[in-house]
Amino acid sequence: MKLDILVFGAHADDAEIGMAGTIAKHTAAGFKVGMCDLTRAEMSSNGTVELREQEAQQAAAVLGAEVRSNLGLPDRGLYITEGHLAAVTAEIRRYAPSMVFAPYWEDRHPDHIACSKLVEEAVFNAKLRKYMPDKPAIPEPGLYFYFINDLGRTDLIVDVTAQYPLKEQALSCYRSQFGLAPGEDAVATPLTEGYIERVRSRDMLLGQRRLIPYAEGFAGKVPYTVDLFDAARK
Ligand SMILES: [Zn+2]
Repeated sequence: MKLDILVFGAHADDAEIGMAGTIAKHTAAGFKVGMCDLTRAEMSSNGTVELREQEAQQAAAVLGAEVRSNLGLPDRGLYITEGHLAAVTAEIRRYAPSMVFAPYWEDRHPDHIACSKLVEEAVFNAKLRKYMPDKPAIPEPGLYFYFINDLGRTDLIVDVTAQYPLKEQALSCYRSQFGLAPGEDAVATPLTEGYIERVRSRDMLLGQRRLIPYAEGFAGKVPYTVDLFDAARK
């Protein structure tokens, strides 16, 4: 199956925090979007691997994703190794997406940074026909970076106002991460302390410069090209 968009995260919920609205917007418009989590988040303070997998599948269904995979790479061990790079590259080649998304390259969580770099290197390798020749090389997809904890340089924003209720619904699937019910075996983490409210405030701020109620922001490492003839005719 070919996908239009493939979104990578270190942990289930990363992609939703950064770009659930953009995912929902594109699936509703008929684009095929896939989500891939690199780890099972086995080091997370709250929730179990099984529970997180269920939550991830529920959230993917809310957003209309075609597929949600998990590469089962080690949580807190996302180093750039030959094996990790091969696994991510194989996933990109498998779906031959036109666009790939990864976490922004600066973040307070080191796994998000590691995921960012790993995906960037895998996107590069995906087009090299002499790298892993048993899996055919693909044209290099476009690569953009979404925000999880840290807000960085914003090269693109997407208006997700109409999709915002779906984003909140997808985020609330991760009950084990964002909720802290009394009596549960859970500890307070940054995610239990008003995290969804912080994401909402951030997305309001991202729309501010264009007077958009809610936007998601993305950074790119190469300039976005436009056809100026269209802009000039308006
Ligand atoms: Zn994460």
